[in-house]
Amino acid sequence: MVSLWQTSKPAVHPLPVPSALAKQELKRTTALATQSANRSWHPATGGNFSVRDGDDLCWVSPSGKHKGMLEWTDFLPVDYQKAELVQPCYAKPSDETALHCAVYRADPTARAVMHVHPPHTTALVGKDFKLSDNEMLKAFGFKTHEIDVTIPSLPNTQDMDKLGQDVKLNLELKLLVLEGHGVYAWGKTPDEAMFRIEALEFLCQLRSLNSRP
Ligand SMILES: [Zn+2]
Repeated sequence: MVSLWQTSKPAVHPLPVPSALAKQELKRTTALATQSANRSWHPATGGNFSVRDGDDLCWVSPSGKHKGMLEWTDFLPVDYQKAELVQPCYAKPSDETALHCAVYRADPTARAVMHVHPPHTTALVGKDFKLSDNEMLKAFGFKTHEIDVTIPSLPNTQDMDKLGQDVKLNLELKLLVLEGHGVYAWGKTPDEAMFRIEALEFLCQLRSLNSRP
């Protein structure tokens, strides 16, 4: 007879471990996050970062921690098909996890997503915002500076889960600005994602300087 007190303990599954490549990219992401924090692109607990790690899995920065002081071991395993933690965890991933997951679902080339709040981009970019005729446009992959580029943007929202489900991403520019909030960028590497943000912020800063009386 089996005693009611001898029920087995619930199974405990160990959390996944990042692959060697993902570990390398997470370390690089933490260095880039520190660099962008030093530029005041995500004060307080703002900003979020992630790295894809094979089918369905990505590693997302935690909520509530300053992103200038991230460790690669802080990142949390998320199933990007479901936009939720692989299993209950000791910490909570970013509130904006759903948008990172939307990028990985939409763009199979994306290995890293970054989201920061650079001031010039955040102040200027809105509906139908265009940039043109500057060498730095080539950072977005164009072969010429003689081009008009409309920066993809959407109104800000607190319903990130809905945005993550509905959003149509620009897979050419690999950028999305949330108006009055900040920018998401992605790429084949963390550096490529950061280059897009740096180029956009530089072009917006130039626009601000050129529009001064
Ligand atoms: Zn944000």
